[in-house]
Amino acid sequence: MTDHVKTVQIPSIKSLDDILPREPLLMMGAGPVPIPERVARANSVVINHLGAVMAQVIDQVKSMARYVFQTESPWVIGVAGPASAAMEMAVVNLLSSGDRFLCINNGFFSSRMGEMAERVGADVQTLDVPVHCAADPDEVERAIEAFQPKAISLVQGETSNTVFNHSLEEIAKRAKKHGCLVIVDAVCTLSTMPLKMDQWQVDVVITGGQKGLSCIPGVSLVAFSDEAWGTIQMRETVLSHWCFDVKLAENFWHKHGYHYTAPVSGIMALHEALKLVCEETLEGRFARHERCSKALQAGIEGMGLDLFIDQASRLNSVVGVKIPHGLSAADICTHISSVYKVEIAGSFGQPIVRIGQMGEQCREHNLFRALHAFGSTMRDLGVSVDQPLGMAHLEAALQSR
Ligand SMILES: *Cc1c(COP(=O)(O)O)cnc(C)c1O
Repeated sequence: MTDHVKTVQIPSIKSLDDILPREPLLMMGAGPVPIPERVARANSVVINHLGAVMAQVIDQVKSMARYVFQTESPWVIGVAGPASAAMEMAVVNLLSSGDRFLCINNGFFSSRMGEMAERVGADVQTLDVPVHCAADPDEVERAIEAFQPKAISLVQGETSNTVFNHSLEEIAKRAKKHGCLVIVDAVCTLSTMPLKMDQWQVDVVITGGQKGLSCIPGVSLVAFSDEAWGTIQMRETVLSHWCFDVKLAENFWHKHGYHYTAPVSGIMALHEALKLVCEETLEGRFARHERCSKALQAGIEGMGLDLFIDQASRLNSVVGVKIPHGLSAADICTHISSVYKVEIAGSFGQPIVRIGQMGEQCREHNLFRALHAFGSTMRDLGVSVDQPLGMAHLEAALQSR
């Protein structure tokens, strides 16, 4: 009865060269971001994932990550997966069914840990922060006092609406005073602006590769404080997630043993990305990000366009620009990509387009090209902008610092 089953034929497939744009696009969106040549080269290496060389690479990745996270805690774990997988690793290991969890929600990304906590059956309360605002420590503290959660989560930079939670340190310290574990999503901000895990008393920091670190997507990092690690070790029930089980991941990341086949090439890339941060130093890197992002913001405003978030709560890592009347994000993003070969991002729900300022995006040549392309796009689409003045503001801001 198999005569009606046909052999599957070789499909007709275009080569990647035919699919990819002839001229590579400059990736100035909200991630993934361009990667340095050294990272790209490292990402082509495959070695034995359980050999001595890999063990040395892992040890170095962990110690460099500790510097970047600003923690002396040894409990750094890598995850084969997006930043969301690292978020999930934190949530599923720390929370069990019935645990109270407060999710500070600034928008699209910061609501995600709440969703994950609901899936493990936690008792989740969400503190919704208005779109243009940073989370307020007093409000968070009141919510903690009323709800008494085991853990809270918040985002340092909400990439979706470009809000910066500038009171993160204060919020973390107050949460600790009430005995909560503090989980921070630093996916777009880590290594672009200060985050001091130990000093600020943060228990878990999560990051991905493809944003602040200027690495490849698909390999992520999570760091646990001693307290968070202790909570995980005390857990008596067996986790329903096998891949995300920290106790199993510890085999590979801390005992040079086997969990699953590690994403060797991705870890090599991560090693180089972290090494570049160490060579630049955090201070140097923060200064570069601030200088470039502020200059870009000055350039955009100089053209006569409006930024979405007021200075006080504005994120530097991703810049949100209000969409001029009559246009859509897709109009702008499609035009700038097809005509000027620059990729920028639309948004999740907000009337903005977003230009990234993470890692390699914060280079002067990329700023000039991106801003010029952005201004030209606006002009092409019928928006009256003063492009020369915008470019002059960019240059002036870069010179003045
Ligand atoms: C991009 C991003 C995420 C999600 O990262 P993925 O790698 O897509 O899972 C989470 N949080 C923030 C703040 C982000 O910018």
